[in-house]
Amino acid sequence: MTTDNPFFAASDLPYQLPPFDRIATGHYLPAFERGMAEQRAEVEAIASLPEPPTFDNTLVALERSGRVLQRVSAAFFNVTSSDTSPELQEIESRVVPLLSAHGDAIMLDRRLFGRVEQLYAQRDALALDAESAWLLERYHTEFVRAGARLSEEEHVRLRELNAELAALATEFGNKVRDGMKAAAVVVEDAADLAGLSADAIAAAEVAARDRGLSGGYALNLILPTAQPALASLHNRAVRERLHTASVGRGCAGDDHDTTGLVLRIVRLRAERARLLGFEHHAAYNIADNTARSVGAVQEMLAKLAPAAVANARIEAEDLQEAIGDAFTLQPWDWAYYTEQIRRDRYAIDEAELRPYFELERVLHDGVFHAAGRLYGIRFEERPDLPAYHDDARVFEVFDRDGGPLGLFIGDFFTRPSKRGGAWANALVPQSRLFGTAPVVVNNLNINRAPEGEPTLLTLDEVRTLFHEFGHALHTLFSQVHFPKFAGTRVPRDFVEYPSQVNEVWMLWPEVLANYATHHRTGEPLPSSVVERLQAAEQFNKGFATTEYLAATLLDLAWHTLTVEEAAAVTDVLAFEAAALERAGVAVPFVPPRYRTAYFAHIFSGAAYSAGYYSYIWSEVLDADTVDWLTEQGGLRRELGDAFRDGLLAKGGSADSMEVYRAFRGRDPLIEPLLKRRGLISVP
Ligand SMILES: [Zn+2]
Repeated sequence: MTTDNPFFAASDLPYQLPPFDRIATGHYLPAFERGMAEQRAEVEAIASLPEPPTFDNTLVALERSGRVLQRVSAAFFNVTSSDTSPELQEIESRVVPLLSAHGDAIMLDRRLFGRVEQLYAQRDALALDAESAWLLERYHTEFVRAGARLSEEEHVRLRELNAELAALATEFGNKVRDGMKAAAVVVEDAADLAGLSADAIAAAEVAARDRGLSGGYALNLILPTAQPALASLHNRAVRERLHTASVGRGCAGDDHDTTGLVLRIVRLRAERARLLGFEHHAAYNIADNTARSVGAVQEMLAKLAPAAVANARIEAEDLQEAIGDAFTLQPWDWAYYTEQIRRDRYAIDEAELRPYFELERVLHDGVFHAAGRLYGIRFEERPDLPAYHDDARVFEVFDRDGGPLGLFIGDFFTRPSKRGGAWANALVPQSRLFGTAPVVVNNLNINRAPEGEPTLLTLDEVRTLFHEFGHALHTLFSQVHFPKFAGTRVPRDFVEYPSQVNEVWMLWPEVLANYATHHRTGEPLPSSVVERLQAAEQFNKGFATTEYLAATLLDLAWHTLTVEEAAAVTDVLAFEAAALERAGVAVPFVPPRYRTAYFAHIFSGAAYSAGYYSYIWSEVLDADTVDWLTEQGGLRRELGDAFRDGLLAKGGSADSMEVYRAFRGRDPLIEPLLKRRGLISVP
């Protein structure tokens, strides 16, 4: 396992695709160990150089360091998300604290920071090109934010905090994933599932077998609170069970209870923020995003929340009217009666739509087709190239000039070894420094159809496919020098912007006409349905906005706690209820999109902590850009090229808002977002 470890050398496959057919579980740990040791030696060489610092001998050298570690990390965290195993989880819980300590060893090295600071002080005299100047700016900021200026004693505590937080995040993620599996609702009789489509019932039967049950049906949960089956299950008692199982995750006092972890995480984050000179974790995190301050985020949310809640209450009245006097609307009734109203008002029936959304059609004739029309790119499946799982499919992407651009890997199906949700990640980041082209993965959790049947998607799944592909395009079109800036390596509250823009094509008439054909008859989706789908875009937006804002405000409530405040919280559920109340988003029939105990975005890994606001923050830019696309005529190569070259290609190689202003010619406006979500007419 030491001499022939595939991570020790660059892959010789096209685009340096990791050679998954040669990677065994036993390769990861030795590769992490060697990778960290190698980067420590490289960093030591930079830090102890007798020559004064130059841009090349310090910053470029840092960018060049740690290749083995990057290779193994990209492949490893891809499989631990999308095809994990007890062995991989074991390695992950060993490696994550080591990586945290490794990162600290670099970022808290005083000699190294001394060199960066010296360069930073001379920055105006260095005559750097724009991307290089930004690299210096970013390294300097990142060192300071990591605590490079703190005392030796403070460094000791910081290292402890980072290590423990890293371990807690992994533990939280594992518990949420296992708890989600455990919370599946099992029914004995198919009659209890009346209302679900035949293939959904078949999928529930398969799910029960997957759980080792000899009979019955299992409704697996998805990560967010709202469970898709609630829209169609006729049996109200089963709906209640499903909803109760969903919102009860993580707080039942059993093996999957995460509330103790939550309290520990928020306390340690508050302590770390104080150590780093910030009032709380949110202030620390948001300072390095385009929003800059918690106040700016809160100001924006305050503009949206009252209108969203007012709209949700109007929607609730409609639902109660549909229910009549029989009973009072409960959260498990929302989706079911919403579907009825959607059917009545727009004559749209989710179940009748699905035959028009067959996975292969949506992918090739929808997602790829739109990208082809806009950007002139082309896709060719490469079954000869190995991926990490049989379901993961490799496509080669050809550029507008016909030349090679990168690889796209689509891994669409759900499986017990995959975490919930949908995401994109780069296996190889584009960079001119290394001469690498991008390799990007999209992961979804679509239920596989029974053997021999086509996989039919819901409208939401179609949207997710377009969304994640937007991240893939951001990664594929990257044209940067330094790997630090490749593709989606932009501030967190900017990263959802390109992916959300890409969602616009799903209902764009020319795109829809190209992919939405009945999988059996080949009939196109009737144009009257298309019109109604477009008209229904604002439908139920009060609910959608409120459940999202509730989760966002919950995230901010946990992360604006000071050290003393965090220490005083002992009851997670009571804190959650009070926080929602205070923020004006405590609507009984609209629970948050994620409740605290399974809010993996913010507690499993730090990526979205104090950052769940990013989606709506990015949506301001998205809606503003979609306005421009619409005004300019939509699906045109000139527009695609302008968006690609002016925005997507830049990755994180400059200040993101400056990139936006240069592309759009002005600051973003919030009005298109308000209009899109139906929030403008509400006082
Ligand atoms: Zn996204």
